[in-house]
Amino acid sequence: MHNKTYDAMPNKSLNLNQLYIDGQWIDNTAGESIEVINPATEQIIAHSACGNIEHVNQAVAAAKKAFIIFSNCSSQTRRQVIKKIASKMEVRKDELTRAISQTMGCPEHIASWLQVEGAIYAMGLFADHCQVTETSEQGDKCLILKEAIGVCAFINPWNFPLHQFIGKVGAALAAGCTMVVKPSEQTPWQDFIMAEIISSVLAEYDLPAGIFNLIPGTGQVVGDALSRHKDVDMVSFTGSTQAGIKVAQSAAPTVKRVMQELGGKSPFIITQNAPLKEAIQYGVEDVMLNSGQSCNTLSRMLVPQHLYEKAISLAKSVAQSLIIGTNEDAFLGPISSKTHQQRIFNYIKLGLEEGATLVCGGVEIPDHLTTGYYVQPTIFSNVNNNMRIAREEIFGPVLCMIPYQTIEEAIDIANDTPYGLSSAVFAKDDYEAIAIAKKIRAGQCMINGGEFNYLAPFGGYKQSGNGREFTQLGVDEFLETKAIITTR
Ligand code: NAD
Repeated sequence: MHNKTYDAMPNKSLNLNQLYIDGQWIDNTAGESIEVINPATEQIIAHSACGNIEHVNQAVAAAKKAFIIFSNCSSQTRRQVIKKIASKMEVRKDELTRAISQTMGCPEHIASWLQVEGAIYAMGLFADHCQVTETSEQGDKCLILKEAIGVCAFINPWNFPLHQFIGKVGAALAAGCTMVVKPSEQTPWQDFIMAEIISSVLAEYDLPAGIFNLIPGTGQVVGDALSRHKDVDMVSFTGSTQAGIKVAQSAAPTVKRVMQELGGKSPFIITQNAPLKEAIQYGVEDVMLNSGQSCNTLSRMLVPQHLYEKAISLAKSVAQSLIIGTNEDAFLGPISSKTHQQRIFNYIKLGLEEGATLVCGGVEIPDHLTTGYYVQPTIFSNVNNNMRIAREEIFGPVLCMIPYQTIEEAIDIANDTPYGLSSAVFAKDDYEAIAIAKKIRAGQCMINGGEFNYLAPFGGYKQSGNGREFTQLGVDEFLETKAIITTR
């Protein structure tokens, strides 16, 4: 086993060209590698290993072997393992922050709380859900047990790479499952740090190393092989709806459980009685945070027609006050890659072709940002819900403002989308907001300024996916139910 550290000290070389299988770091000597690019500097910062089918087979076999021991170990041990992992993450918080910031672009001062502190907190919370497999329920002439589902495959995106990792790995550890993890091609770094942390904790508790395996690689090869593998009992995928459908198709012949956390085009209804300035600030900042690269971003803002012009002017001034860059005062960092920046620019051009009005932003890059894949905070008005910019996930700092006449029409527009991940309502009070929230077909609804909460289950309706992450419900996804039938 190689002794290694992933701390990104200047000039220290970063070696991500390895895989972690059954307790061994394996050098990727023969295979291809993947360039990892810092979107702020446009420089290659590392080459990541590009796993193959043989690596997948080895990792799945290791996870299968480890399952027998891990699924039978006490909930007390699993609880201690999770708590230890969370405390070691705390110690390496700065490294985790740099790993994320330098691969997907979120400025460090934002990544530290948005991407890392929350994920550490969430990992710790899973410690409270470990007893699930040790309780049984007495039914009528039967005993009902919950058991860990088995070997799990986790496929993650780049936008919240640690948060997504924890939502899957933390829940699987709580349930007693073993796993193979595939990070996004763009953001493997923090998973290497987590592999070090998890492997050291498993060794401390004398648990099999094969509980956790890491195979960096492409979706087409590693992701697909994991989805198809006959010994993988469950695949949990987070990413685009398009790739999520492919995962489900590849998984279908082996009838494994498939959990999908997919895209969104979430509506934000502002009612006529809402405090308009506060609501607009909340909505604009929500779309611009993480440079708009959040699955649950409130990208469609629905405003009463008679307040529309005032709302546009307020939204413009909020957007124009947000600083772009990587410094301590920056709100928006670069977009995660050049390809994605171009994709967002294409959507902005499409919005203009469709007849929407550009309120601010656009395809120009501010003069002082000569390096880095930036996109300005962009707002479109005169958007109707049939336009492609209102229907398709842009996944960038682009807000569509849509006017409505009645609250019934606003709810219809909110629900007129193939997605159903998140939503929000700003109203006079919680009573009014909850009445509207109940009519929106989405997995979450933030009311009157509510923020992301790890104590609330997360997941989508419709084409935003199925299953829930975090909380007890997130752990329940990793369980099978057994009924033992008795004579009395
Ligand atoms: P993506 O779908 O391109 O890739 C996600 C992961 O899937 C990557 O690891 C990729 O390698 C893998 N992959 C790609 N094709 C595959 C295939 N055929 N088989 C198996 N794996 C495959 O998504 P992305 O660009 O990395 O992330 C952005 C998307 O993720 C957005 O649509 C966003 O809404 C979504 N997302 C959803 C949630 C959620 O919880 N609902 C959270 C974050 C991001």
